[in-house]
Amino acid sequence: LLSLQNIWVEYGDKVVLERVNLDIATGSFVSIVGPSGAGKSTLLRVILGQEAPTRGQIWLDGAPLPPECGPDRGVVFQRYSVFPHLTVLGNMLFGLECAQSPFLSRLLGAHRRTAIAEAEAMLDAVGLGDSRDIYPAQMSGGMQQRLAIAQALIKRPRILLLDEPFGALDPGIRADMHGLITRLWRDYALTIIMVTHDIKEAFSLGTRVLTIDKRRRDPHAPHRYGATAVYDLELSRKIQPVA
Ligand code: ATP
Ligand code: MG
Repeated sequence: LLSLQNIWVEYGDKVVLERVNLDIATGSFVSIVGPSGAGKSTLLRVILGQEAPTRGQIWLDGAPLPPECGPDRGVVFQRYSVFPHLTVLGNMLFGLECAQSPFLSRLLGAHRRTAIAEAEAMLDAVGLGDSRDIYPAQMSGGMQQRLAIAQALIKRPRILLLDEPFGALDPGIRADMHGLITRLWRDYALTIIMVTHDIKEAFSLGTRVLTIDKRRRDPHAPHRYGATAVYDLELSRKIQPVA
């Protein structure tokens, strides 16, 4: 499905990603762990299309990945993914409009009822069916993340990118979210790429666990790094669901 070939990201003379080669299979749930500053979020931003790699190419099913974030990709961050001044439903419709061209956005006006029905169905799917008219400030952190997930999924993306999506939540709530994300992954036949600092979470959810780090170039100068190392951690392999 997704193939990253020789990806580099450089800021001035600072090399954040160097020679990253990575194939991600359709329907897999890839967890990414690694130290702070390793470039995990940068890697997600590159896949999302928010950041152009300085070198290298990304392919989606054999064609160059469209550089702009289209409806094929959705994303959820640790927080601040939802708009505080919009209701739950307003957040959903806004996400939908952003996914479309201005032309389609105008058309959407004529299909507002369909859009609302879609939004409500997705809110039901994440357990927010009764919350469409409230504001994020009236919701718990867990509910806000449910909304962020629903907002990412309303475009019906094939790839869902999660950057420490449950990092700010209490352990009990996280367990609920693990159940939810596993169900959505299966029901919508998603390919999920999730960055997390929680190793247990990485292994319990992921069909594949990657660690990303910098490879030391010179042991006598440990501050100097070489190519970004991406390793598969093979301790856990779950059976992928049938799409
Ligand atoms: P964390 O676990 O703390 O979220 P991360 O693995 O997600 O870390 P990134 O956010 O991808 O790390 O950042 C990797 C490196 O790139 C860091 O050293 C960061 O300072 C640097 N970096 C990221 N964005 C920029 C930018 N726009 N300009 C310069 N440096 C940047
Ligand atoms: Mg990060």
